[in-house]
Amino acid sequence: MKGYLVKLYPNKSQAILLDKHFGACRWVYNKMIEISQKKYHRTGKSMSGYDMQAMLPKLKKQYPWLAEVNSQSLQIVCHNLADAYGRFFKKQAAYPCFKKKDSHDSFAAINRSYFCGNKLKLQKISAIRFRGGDRPEGAVKKFTVKKIAGSYYASVLIDTGIVPPALQPPERILGIDLGVKDVVVTSAGLHVPAPKYFIFSQKALKIRQRALARCRKGSKNRAKARLRVAKLHQKISNQRKDFNHKLTHQLVANSENQAFAVENLAVKNMLGNHKLAKHIADCGWNQFITFLNYKARDAGKHVIEVDRWFPSTKTCSACGIVRGKISLSERQWKCGSCGSEHDRDRNAATNIALEAGRDFAFDCGGNARPVAILANPVETRKCA
Ligand SMILES: [Zn+2]
Repeated sequence: MKGYLVKLYPNKSQAILLDKHFGACRWVYNKMIEISQKKYHRTGKSMSGYDMQAMLPKLKKQYPWLAEVNSQSLQIVCHNLADAYGRFFKKQAAYPCFKKKDSHDSFAAINRSYFCGNKLKLQKISAIRFRGGDRPEGAVKKFTVKKIAGSYYASVLIDTGIVPPALQPPERILGIDLGVKDVVVTSAGLHVPAPKYFIFSQKALKIRQRALARCRKGSKNRAKARLRVAKLHQKISNQRKDFNHKLTHQLVANSENQAFAVENLAVKNMLGNHKLAKHIADCGWNQFITFLNYKARDAGKHVIEVDRWFPSTKTCSACGIVRGKISLSERQWKCGSCGSEHDRDRNAATNIALEAGRDFAFDCGGNARPVAILANPVETRKCA
């Protein structure tokens, strides 16, 4: 299975029909919350996805406009809501809340849609022109259409039939230290400066947000100003995504790297630090790890997560001695015990790889060693 994201270019009538789908799905979602709340108060029982789905024909008779949209999309809404309730009852998520208009509009459907030249055929909607990268070969299994900042996107799940190669026991592990100044430093000495897309766009964002604040509530200009803010947010998020895709691709495609070790981050906890919060959010570490994980899996390579409380910065990667406190400004240091000179981040990355090697030997056997200790190439990558 492979995900494939395309931008859709619907004509006017198609856009109206897509908007109808968003509206109907949101309406059904909110209606089902209302109905299940009433049922819960009356009987103390929750509703399953099938219970909700069984109510759809009745609702369609009462509200005929619901029949204009793909019925499968409405059924999926029911199952998604039942899942959300399930997670709530398991205390894994908050209570599902009502969806507001324009908030994360989306709808999904399974099967019976296909690509035809430069168009994507969706059920109940004529073929829509799209643009995207190289399309994976295979049948469409599921798609989700989203509207973000006024533009339409479809993420399509394609069954490629390709089985990823079996995981190979690695002989070398590349340690990766994630940071704020350099977003990635590897045990092989690669330093990637953080691109800081959000920080660079902050001024422009402030101007647009101020313009939005000046608009009268409910006015047409306010809607336009809100779209301008949303578009800039979307641009920043696209830039970050593109950067992380390219970086993880570069790391995974390098045949020297047989396995990757990363710190197990609790980014959410760290975001509590207000001074660093926006810088940390701007780095997109979680996205980096997600991309690295799936790209490595497709290539038959391991990603090993190292416990986040492990003192990767303070330990000397040559002799293993743990030193006292180290300040953020201290970029280079010399080990008092063995005399090795360390670059702060690269030393941390090497320690992460060493720790992962120990974890790995414990879990799976083998004798994996960090890349830096086997080979010692130093490369620096300039960021565009
Ligand atoms: Zn030492």
